Amino acid sequence: MTIKTIGVVGAGAMGGGIAQVAAMAGYNVILRDIDMKFVDNAIARMEKFMARSIEKGKMTEEAAKETITRITKTTTLEDMASADFIIEAVLEKIELKKEVFQTLHKVCGPDTIFATNTSSMSVTEIAAASGRPEKVCGMHFFNPAQLMKLVEVIHAIQSSDETIAATIELARSFGKTTVEVKKDSPGFIVNRLTFPYMVEAARILEEGVASVEDIDTAIKLGLNYPMGPFESFDMGGIDLATAIMEYFAKEFNNSNYAPPQILKQRLRAGLIGRKTGEGFYKYKK
Ligand code: NAD
Repeated sequence: MTIKTIGVVGAGAMGGGIAQVAAMAGYNVILRDIDMKFVDNAIARMEKFMARSIEKGKMTEEAAKETITRITKTTTLEDMASADFIIEAVLEKIELKKEVFQTLHKVCGPDTIFATNTSSMSVTEIAAASGRPEKVCGMHFFNPAQLMKLVEVIHAIQSSDETIAATIELARSFGKTTVEVKKDSPGFIVNRLTFPYMVEAARILEEGVASVEDIDTAIKLGLNYPMGPFESFDMGGIDLATAIMEYFAKEFNNSNYAPPQILKQRLRAGLIGRKTGEGFYKYKK
């Protein structure tokens, strides 16, 4: 199938990055959020990102302008009717994702593939609610989508081989490396391995074993990770991290995955990291 137009639903950190990657690869993009201010903010972030690329000599001004002109902004889901492939990047709430796909099913042509960028949740459950389960799969980008090379392509139980093949081909045309997750399982590969480590980092801090800075330094210099766990919490958001931990605890029937108090308290205080700039590096308690 020929993919020319990509619909991106949700213009937050991930949706904005994915829309930019798709437009830079030459696709027409329709970017939708519930309020135009979120779409405008996403476009402003893209312009800032590309300005830095121009400064570094990695992109021409013309290419940056063309990228933006390929993106159509909207707040109306019905505008997705002309999309050949949809990437959903709304909040990590399964009922919201199901609702979005149910509406898209009515709006889009029968051949349009729906991919969810969920970080952890059941692609199979989302597919089942979509009205076109064989045309749904997971397409998990990493943050920031413009720079991170990996895309996990996840089989829902119902995904057809054609859907998976088209999704892999699309991700590769974005310049990404794909890995295939053959069984839909919470957190897929990367987050399944990462979140037990993030929970343990929060516990170490809670127990007073070491400071935020020293835990991050230990991981960066001891394991050669580019970021420590608290830098990751601040960047990804404590709201998203705790949502994933709670989901894992429930799905795996294992309370070891559950968010420690130190994360829940921060969530209650609204100190969630990226969105407020009030993460672990500002409030270290
Ligand atoms: P975000 O909060 O930055 O953005 C979500 C956006 O979705 C918001 O702008 C919100 O207004 C919008 N939205 C809500 N309902 C909508 C609807 N019905 N239609 C269109 N837009 C709607 O969140 P994010 O970090 O970009 O995460 C989005 C998805 O990507 C989540 O499923 C998350 O788990 C996943 N993800 C996040 C990361 C990360 O590190 N942040 C990495 C990979 C995957």
